[in-house]
This record gives sequence, C-alpha cells and structure tokens, in this order.
Amino acid sequence: MEEEVHGIVIVGGGICGLATALALHRKGISSLVLEKSETLRTDGVAIGVHANGWRALDQLGLATELRETANIITGYHNVWQQQSKSTIIPARKELRCLKRKDLVQALAGSLPAGTIRFSCHIAAIVADPDPDGSNRTLLRTMDGSTIKANVLIGCDGANSVVAKYLGLGSPSHLPLLIMLGLTSYPHGHPFGTQFLRFAGNGFAVGLLPVTENLVHFFVSRPSPSTGFTDESAAREYVLEKLQDCPDEIADMVRRCDAAETKTLTKVWYRSPWQVLLGRFQRGTVTVAGDAMHVMGPYIGQGGSASLEDAVVLARTLSRSVPNGVVVVDGNGSTRSRELQEKRISVALGEYVRERRARLFMLSLESYVIGTLRIAKSLLKKLACVAMLTLLGSESRRHANYNCGPL
Ligand SMILES: Cc1cc2nc3c(=O)[nH]c(=O)nc-3n(C[C@H](O)[C@H](O)[C@H](O)COP(=O)(O)OP(=O)(O)OC[C@H]3O[C@@H](n4cnc5c(N)ncnc54)[C@H](O)[C@@H]3O)c2cc1C
Repeated sequence: MEEEVHGIVIVGGGICGLATALALHRKGISSLVLEKSETLRTDGVAIGVHANGWRALDQLGLATELRETANIITGYHNVWQQQSKSTIIPARKELRCLKRKDLVQALAGSLPAGTIRFSCHIAAIVADPDPDGSNRTLLRTMDGSTIKANVLIGCDGANSVVAKYLGLGSPSHLPLLIMLGLTSYPHGHPFGTQFLRFAGNGFAVGLLPVTENLVHFFVSRPSPSTGFTDESAAREYVLEKLQDCPDEIADMVRRCDAAETKTLTKVWYRSPWQVLLGRFQRGTVTVAGDAMHVMGPYIGQGGSASLEDAVVLARTLSRSVPNGVVVVDGNGSTRSRELQEKRISVALGEYVRERRARLFMLSLESYVIGTLRIAKSLLKKLACVAMLTLLGSESRRHANYNCGPL
C-alpha cells in the first residue's frame, strides 16, 4: 500500500482547525484537515464574539458576511435576583452572538474542495524520524491506517491527542452543568439588544440576542458531587431551577428549539500555570485552540482566541514557507526539506511565544472568575476581586486585543 505523506496536517475540524486551514489557504499554503465526525460539526449552539474575534474574522475575510447574521449587542444587563439589584453597562466595543453553525459553515465553505477529510479519527501520534533526518510524525487512525505529516497542528479540542504527544497534562473540569440553547420568536423577542446576565440562588442564566427573532441562552448550575454522565439527566437537574426564574426567561427555555440545545456534563479548562509553562511545540508539531488553552466559559473568549491563534499561526508559518510549498518526499531534495523543517520549527516557536502571554492572561482571568464564583472564604473572594481589577476585567480589556494582520 502506498504511504500517505502530507505537508501540513491539522487534526480537528472545529472552529480552530477550519480557521487555521483557511488562514493558511489565504496565505497560499494548502493543508489537510482530519475530522473524526462524519460531517461538519455544527453543534455547540452559539458563541459571543467580541471585537478581538471580529478583527480575526476580518483577516480571514469572513467578518462582513457573518455580521449579516447577528445583530450588535449594545450592553450588559446584570441582575442579582437575591439582592434585588441590577446594573446596565454599555458595550464599548463590538459584540455579537453568532450561531456556531453559521460560523463553521462560513469557514468550511471558504476552503478549497478536499481540504477536510471526515470520519478520520486519529487514535495516536508517534515521532517518525527518518534515516535521512526528517522529523515527520506518524498519525494512526482508529481504522488502522497511517498518515505521515511534515507539519502537524493539533486543533482537536480539550482532550487533544496532539497535546498528549507534546506531553501536556490533561485539562481539569469545572463543577458546573450548562444547558445551551436557541429560541426563535417569529414575531420578535422581548429581550431588547442587551446581554442579560441573571444570577439566581444557585444558578445563573445568560441570554444573548442573535437577531430580533432569535436568542441564545445558557442556564448553569453547580454539579452535585455525584456528577452526571447522562446528558438528559443533567438537563433535568439544571431545569429544576427554572421555577425560580422570571416568567419570560422560564418560557424562553421551555420553548427552545430541541434540535439546537445541548447540555454539557463536563466543562473543561487548562490551568493558567499549564498555559504559562506547558510545552506547546515539539519540532514541527504544535497545538492551537482548545487543545492549547481550553478555558471556562466565564469571559466568552475560547472561540475568539482560537481565531486569533489561526491568524498568528498562519502569519508566522508563512514566513518560513515563502513560496507556499511544504517540501515532502518527491517534490524536493532531502537537504531542502531539512532546511525548511528547521525554518518551520523556528516559526512555530515564534507563534508559541507570541500567543503564550495573551493566552495566559485570558485563562488567568477566566480561572479567577471561576474561583470567585465558588469561593467560600471572604479573603479568597477579596483576593479574586483585586486580581480581576488588576486584569481590567470589568472593562473587558481582553476584548480590545488585536492579533494583527494575516
Ligand atoms: C458553555 C461554553 C460556552 C462558550 N461560549 C463561548 C463564547 O461565548 N465565545 C467564545 O469565543 N468561546 C466560547 N466558548 C469556547 C469555544 O466554544 C471553544 O473555545 C471553541 O469552540 C474551540 O474550538 P476548537 O476548534 O479549538 O475545539 P473544538 O470545537 O472542540 O473542535 C475540535 C474538533 O476536533 C475533532 N477531534 C477531536 N479529537 C479528534 C481526533 N482524535 N481525530 C480527529 N478529530 C478530532 C472534534 O470532533 C472537533 O470537531 C464556550 C465554551 C463553552 C463550553
């Protein structure tokens, strides 16, 4: 059987894998995306995209078409039910809530035919040093076939096989259950144009208008110590809290589109210390997106940070492949391949250096908010509040970031 060898292989066809393939394509570099699911994964409901994410989408050439699908969100309406307190803070920068399906389809639809290979589940990765000095990796699929890659980018989510190959520890999970959904209102919804954040007794609801006829919501509740593995049991448990919600919110959750809901029994995060110190590169292998920096949903930045990763990775990688061709067996000499491997390895090192500080700050902020939510001691709470003030959390400083041009 003929050996399959590719220049750049991306494992995972989620937001990050598709964005990375598209960013490389825009730089004239082709890649192959290996995705384990049979078709494009459009589940996950919706994500809020802040100004930093829109800048990255601009670079990918998709911002204009995606803005058509989602209205601007004008502010944050925070309600603390028990204290009968509420605040309204205007949004100073662009924020819109995108249906994940719209985002994923726009990314995939801009890729050349044949870029994504579905039903290709990578089971393991091993180093494949050739006698000629090449540093390729060998990917073994679940069905027993093998693929060689000169450059490997792991965009395979929280439980990444590529991250394992790099020696990164497993991510942890938060003691939280989250139900996500979309509700349609053919005659218009009553929620205005603000992001509603409703904190009740032992639960929280978030509501983001997508358009005047569609809202995205999430309901979260701390998970019991026994946990849940079954999605429907977890959903029932979360929904017990609906009786404590104002009627409009309870009604919105009850009438949601059943096909567009999801309940997460595990919400993953990589600790900020791992993001600061973890090994994100080995030769011509690296990671991006949740595989690198999965974080709790508290600041709504995991997806946008993944788009930033894609832009920065393609920008740095393209400097080491100026003609857009990654040398593999048959299209160049061993010497030219070795030289290029060295250049690519240096470029990936630059990518990791550029991203690490940014990602550390994001994961730290998300981690501190998560810690504050569950902290019992007053001292711990005060320390978290002080840290969040330092990080500029209230002003959403993180959303102002510009990852630069492609
Ligand atoms: C409740 C919640 C709310 C969120 N809200 C927001 C928000 O408002 N804004 C925001 O920006 N972010 C948000 N996020 C984060 C965001 O959803 C993620 O950061 C983003 O989806 C990560 O994309 P990814 O492509 O890195 O990973 P994934 O979306 O997990 O994609 C990984 C892909 O790899 C494939 N794969 C995995 N393993 C293999 C394998 N071995 N072989 C082949 N394929 C494989 C999977 O099938 C999948 O398609 C939220 C997250 C959660 C949990």
